[in-house]
Parts: sequence; C-alpha cells; structure tokens
Amino acid sequence: MWLTLDDLQCSECGAFVHPLLESCPDCGTAHASRRDEAAAGPIGAVRLADAPETERMARNLTMRYTMKINVFGGSVAGATLGGAVGYLAEALPYRMVGDGVPITDQADLALRDGALVAQVRPSRVLLAEIPLPSILAAAPGHGSVVLYYAPGPNAPVAGPSGGATNGAGPLRLTVANRRGLFVARARDAHFEDFARWLGVLTAAAAEQRWTEIGLPSYLVELGLATPGAAVPSVAVGASASAGPATVPAVTSSSAIATSLQELERLRAAGLVAEDEYSAKRREILARL
Ligand SMILES: [Zn+2]
Repeated sequence: MWLTLDDLQCSECGAFVHPLLESCPDCGTAHASRRDEAAAGPIGAVRLADAPETERMARNLTMRYTMKINVFGGSVAGATLGGAVGYLAEALPYRMVGDGVPITDQADLALRDGALVAQVRPSRVLLAEIPLPSILAAAPGHGSVVLYYAPGPNAPVAGPSGGATNGAGPLRLTVANRRGLFVARARDAHFEDFARWLGVLTAAAAEQRWTEIGLPSYLVELGLATPGAAVPSVAVGASASAGPATVPAVTSSSAIATSLQELERLRAAGLVAEDEYSAKRREILARL
C-alpha cells in the first residue's frame, strides 16, 4: 500500500515520524515501519508529496502565509510543497535551543537547498543545518516544535547540558514561539502544519535518498544501522546490545527518561510555562 498522510503520524502524540522508524522518538509509541517495503522499492513518499491533495494544500498554505507576511511575489497557482514549507518556516522569528545549539532568543528558520537552516537573527550566524533526509521526527507542542534528526558527519557534539544523545541517538532542536510576540500567528496550528508538511517533504526526500544510495547505506546515515550490518530491527532509543525480546521495555523506559530530560531542559531554558510543565510531566509519568 502506498504511504498516506496518516502513516507519517504518531498515533499517540501526532508527531511526524519517519516512515522507516519503529517507534516515535518523542513519546516512544510503536510506529508501523515501512522498512521491509522500502527494501523492495518505493513506498509512495514521493507520490504523496506530488499528489493533487498535497498540491491543493500547498496552494492554500502559500496563500495564507504570503497574505500574512504581506508578500505577493510568485504565483500561488505554481505553489509547491517545498515552497509552502519554506513560507511556514520563515513566517516567524523563533526562540531555539538544542543539541549543539545554545538558547537563542531571536533565530530564523529557512528551507534552502533541501535543508532546514537555522540562523541567529540578524547576524546570520549558523545554528544548525539539517538536511531533509536526516530528519527523523517533528513533534508539535504548545507554541513549539521539536525536530529530531540524525547527526551527520559535521554534526555538533552535544554540550554538557545538551546530553542524552549517548553519541548515537538523534539530535534535537526545539523551535519555539518567542513568548508574547506575534502571538496571533504563533498559534499551535502553525507548528502542527509545519510538522505535518515538513514530514511529507522529508519522507519524499528520504525515499529519493535511499533510492539513490541504497537502503542499507541510508539506514547507516540515519544512525539506524552500523556499516556492514544487516538491516536491523532495533528501535531508535533502544540499547544496541539489547536483544529483540527486551526492546519494547527498554525503548519505553528510556523514551520516558528522555522525555523527562527534555522537559527539564525546556523548563530551564524558560520555554515552558509552569502549568504546561506540570501537565506535560504528569502526562509523561502516566506512561510508566
Ligand atoms: Zn509520539
């Protein structure tokens, strides 16, 4: 079966989850991986990105966002998914923090040459450059989205407080609303739309990438396999030495620990209000 929009969403938290992942990096919930099908050929990710419904949505978003930012350059009729995701990314200034990225109060996000580029505003100092095929998940929250991505060869090393990557797990970048500014535009729907359509674009870029370099090499790039290894069945976040029988338990408790750590970081960074913090903490602990 060809990939659908629903297949790219975590059934529990609604995050975009890469079609080759077996669990959601954000909440640890199991995800139906398309890895076996991908080994045999395309799974329909490029097809989904080019579908008439996707094009219609791209036109709608382009119209909405170009009106909001008051730029009427370019034709809405020729809108593309890439263009629409670019408008979403660039619609706001953000507050960012992540692995290798210090808390930055004024930052821009843009889609350039098949990568998300985060820069300090206005100095344009580079904070992160994330190629689309390396994105593993995008989890929208209240006024924010957390991007999970595979560390590339030039990936930043997690700082002392950045932690939790264990040298193998995905890197994180939290892109958040700048509190009190542009509140009307920075609704949760902005981050939900961004995560969903970035996900469709990412899945298509991923399918192109594994078609080009082969699935085993692509899984190595994603950090889901070690060079020379057979296609693994180990979930993201699971210890590499864990046997298949113990994987679900390991994944779920380590995912909870990771979620709690991330929450504490967000709180320390002033990115969540106290009431959101308490609610989210209860929600994470309820999974135990
Ligand atoms: Zn999830």
